[in-house]
Amino acid sequence: MGKVVCVLYDDPIDGYPTSYARDDLPKIDRYPDGQSLPTPKAIDFTPGHLLGSVSGELGLRKYVESLGHEFVVTSSKDGPDSELEKHLADAEVVISQPFWPAYLTAERIARAPKLKLALTAGIGSDHVDLQAAIDRGITVAEVTYCNSNSVAEHVVMMVLGLVRNYIPSYNWVLKGGWNIADCVARSYDVEGMHVGTVAAGRIGLRVLRLLKPFGMHLHYTDRHRLPAEVEQELDLTWHETPQDMYPHCDVVTLNCPLHPETEHMVNDQTLKLFRRGAYLVNTARGKLCDRDAIARALESGQLAGYAGDVWFPQPAPRDHPWRTMPHHGMTPHISGTSLSAQARYAAGTREILECHFEGRPIRDEYLIVQGGNLAGVGAHSYSKGNATGGSDEAAKFEKVD
Ligand code: NDP
Repeated sequence: MGKVVCVLYDDPIDGYPTSYARDDLPKIDRYPDGQSLPTPKAIDFTPGHLLGSVSGELGLRKYVESLGHEFVVTSSKDGPDSELEKHLADAEVVISQPFWPAYLTAERIARAPKLKLALTAGIGSDHVDLQAAIDRGITVAEVTYCNSNSVAEHVVMMVLGLVRNYIPSYNWVLKGGWNIADCVARSYDVEGMHVGTVAAGRIGLRVLRLLKPFGMHLHYTDRHRLPAEVEQELDLTWHETPQDMYPHCDVVTLNCPLHPETEHMVNDQTLKLFRRGAYLVNTARGKLCDRDAIARALESGQLAGYAGDVWFPQPAPRDHPWRTMPHHGMTPHISGTSLSAQARYAAGTREILECHFEGRPIRDEYLIVQGGNLAGVGAHSYSKGNATGGSDEAAKFEKVD
């Protein structure tokens, strides 16, 4: 029987919750494009409970053990002494969430001779060396759409938070102040501003739809153009490349996957194309941006604000400059792991595992790599290669309790 290794983030510092702020989750029948939500044969968890941390176990233990497999759950993922490293030798499946990614580099894949499935409980499989998975014939799958709308909501929150100067104003309240001029000296309305998304996939298009009622002018760039009726409905301006789009935008949001073609797409050179005082929101992947170029652009005023929830590596070291650079609105990687999203991707993870163990095909929309090539959604949205370089730096993180 096989071994399933599940890498999850730590429980809350006060312990696993015994009660929740709300009693249930709203019912959602389908995603906006009609795709059905995950369809596992059964679930063994309560939707709305914390599933993504170690004690939540993605609600999978009963199911995996009922098949006679060993189920290892750990948050210890980085460095040669990590639990993940110890279990690689006989792991058949490694499950990981992008929020707390189990980096599966080529070296680790080489040390995992039995690995058949790298399963992303969420969206974005850039923590896996896709080229190494292709070469070894490992299947890589993710739960497409499970948290795309969750992230889009976070993007809207961050756009408004930056442009309206929310976090510094909130901090004046905590400090006991009433410093209106300090709060508003950097505060604007989004109405009338031009916002552009790099990629108009599930998240990017949703962001455009959500921002439309604010009276913003909408721009996008993507490898494939949206249908003409969608462009007309939202009055979208399409640009052939990100570089063509940047000069037109007051706000830019990045919503494409990280792969070799997109790594460090925002750098010192491309930032020069931005309008002075533009805002940049990146909830896609930290490595889309050159870390130090972002800090420099905030210090010089070329960017008026930067927000997002994605870093490289993850967890970000304590001395990562994005923790302390001016005018930022960063969170840890949380946008796609609301309790609402967790219920969807825990069910999707179960669905993919059921397919794997029963020898049934995994839905095409969940596949990134299969049979020695990019497959399914992966063949559409990713490019071959590896974007895990430098991930060993994650071992530098020190916990704060
Ligand atoms: P989709 O696959 O629906 O959309 C991705 C889009 O990116 C596609 O339209 C694709 O284009 C486009 N794209 C790929 N490469 C390029 C490129 N070089 N230039 C421009 N566009 C490009 O995925 P989602 O919208 O659901 O998610 C997008 C990304 O967001 C994920 O890959 C992940 O990295 C991140 N994410 C972050 C989360 C978080 O918690 N912060 C949670 C979920 C996702 P096309 O298909 O037309 O080729």
